[in-house]
Amino acid sequence: MKIEFLCPHCKHELEFDDLSRKESPCPLCNELIRLRISERMRRNNMVDRCAICDCNTVYVQKDFNRTLGVSIFLLGALLFLLCAWKNRLVEGTLVWAAFVMADALLFKFLSDVTICYKCYAQYRQVTPNPDNQPFELGLAEKYDPLDKRVSAENPAAEWKGR
Ligand SMILES: [Zn+2]
Ligand SMILES: [Zn+2]
Repeated sequence: MKIEFLCPHCKHELEFDDLSRKESPCPLCNELIRLRISERMRRNNMVDRCAICDCNTVYVQKDFNRTLGVSIFLLGALLFLLCAWKNRLVEGTLVWAAFVMADALLFKFLSDVTICYKCYAQYRQVTPNPDNQPFELGLAEKYDPLDKRVSAENPAAEWKGR
């Protein structure tokens, strides 16, 4: 299991994969970060709660790289226009269809990422936990009541895209 999170003290992006430790100093600000690794995490490699902020609800989504997805889409559109310009509409449509399919396939075979509602810590390379559900707006507002505007979308997706 690999955990990616923002340091609660200095808000820098950190990575962590040593589940045997109960606390670890931040490599940037040196403040101690407490880790609440549960039994299920240690033994089954399953996320049942957030180890960083002790929030007990996490959600699962596709680990989708938005930039890559959009790039494929745009490249397909560009090739289509090039074909249309050369009066080759049939070929253009075929190329376009191929790119749309590539995008869909890419999405289908993407692995999942588990994300905490409260602090947006991301857990990768985990055993899927059937108790964890996809993102729910109602839950997001419950765990992040301070900023309703941000939670109206999926803020973790934005954070990841940086
Ligand atoms: Zn720090
Ligand atoms: Zn958390």
